[in-house]
Amino acid sequence: MKVTFLGTGTSQGIPIIGSTHPVCQSHDERDKRLRVSILINYNNANYVIDCGPDFRQQMLREKVTHLEAILFTHEHADHTAGLDDIRPFFFRQGDIPIYAHKRVISELKRRFDYIFQTENRYPGAPAVEINEVVNNNPFTANNLEFIPVDVLHGNLQVFGYRFKNFAYLTDVKTISDQEKEKLKNLDVLVVNALREEEHYTHFNLEEALAFVEELKPKKTYFTHISHLLGFHADVEKRLPENVHLAYDGLTLEI
Ligand SMILES: [Zn+2]
Repeated sequence: MKVTFLGTGTSQGIPIIGSTHPVCQSHDERDKRLRVSILINYNNANYVIDCGPDFRQQMLREKVTHLEAILFTHEHADHTAGLDDIRPFFFRQGDIPIYAHKRVISELKRRFDYIFQTENRYPGAPAVEINEVVNNNPFTANNLEFIPVDVLHGNLQVFGYRFKNFAYLTDVKTISDQEKEKLKNLDVLVVNALREEEHYTHFNLEEALAFVEELKPKKTYFTHISHLLGFHADVEKRLPENVHLAYDGLTLEI
């Protein structure tokens, strides 16, 4: 199995348009962060978690030629706004399977009504196969089993996903002890760490580190990073052993 970080930035991406912040002006490629998403390649099938506004650029960069499933964490635009760009996959493969909470599916129907229309469809519009994700109901997409992990992003429910001994959690602020049970014995944990300062809907660095300390995965990568966290190279040096900042294009072979 291969997991590639398609994007590791918070909602505006880094650099932020028009920003003169030093991190936004950094020449280190690892400080350039598209909106969060990962690509999973397993048994010749490609899965993405989330489909944000940088989806097209991410698919081109990683030379992805087919897509077997899209799993959504939640409906915020930085995680969903790229859905129209599944068109090249749809033209070659037909309806693209999507997996999401029923609330997220209704949001997508509202925002991308033409994708879900059944009558008088515009010939160029893509179509999707809808799969509802229900907490405590693991599901198999192609040959890979996913366990939904229910977390809270402020007041908003968000799904993280565990597959094999890998867990991908983004936009987490709180998680119940019951859901933490699903995150035992991880080889790799990916979790959000926004910045040093506290935030109402995201783990800051301190909270993310405490979460790692509690779960004790073999390795951890932080994602959904703000320019306010600092330069990649500086932050990386301050992290404990086996804890790293993810960066765009990083690939893990598992
Ligand atoms: Zn987000």
